[in-house]
Amino acid sequence: MIVKRALGAKFGTKTRQTIYEKTNYHCYYCGTALNPENWSVDHIIPISLGGSDELDNLTGACISCNKRKKNHTLESFRTLQSRLNQKIPWFSPDQTKFLERHGFTKHIPSPDLFWWEKQ
Ligand SMILES: [Zn+2]
Repeated sequence: MIVKRALGAKFGTKTRQTIYEKTNYHCYYCGTALNPENWSVDHIIPISLGGSDELDNLTGACISCNKRKKNHTLESFRTLQSRLNQKIPWFSPDQTKFLERHGFTKHIPSPDLFWWEKQ
């Protein structure tokens, strides 16, 4: 199968093919079947947080997961994703402090598993 250039990718065809096959053509995070015409290469540990361009740090992700993940670590992305799945609003650290000062307790969502953890 020929894998078209992934959005925003700076990697060669062979590398993209390897990344695409690593997850058996599924989004690493939500498990959606990746469209060979429209998928993205994601840095599991973002470059901004010291992640590398090595294959171990690269995975295939659907466009919507990649857009949401941005420069989150796996665990902060898990929290963000769990909040979205459980419809819990996201508050900034300042908003959280304000709410705690006014007697609201922090609601910690039960963590959801990523697709690759369920395999
Ligand atoms: Zn996804």
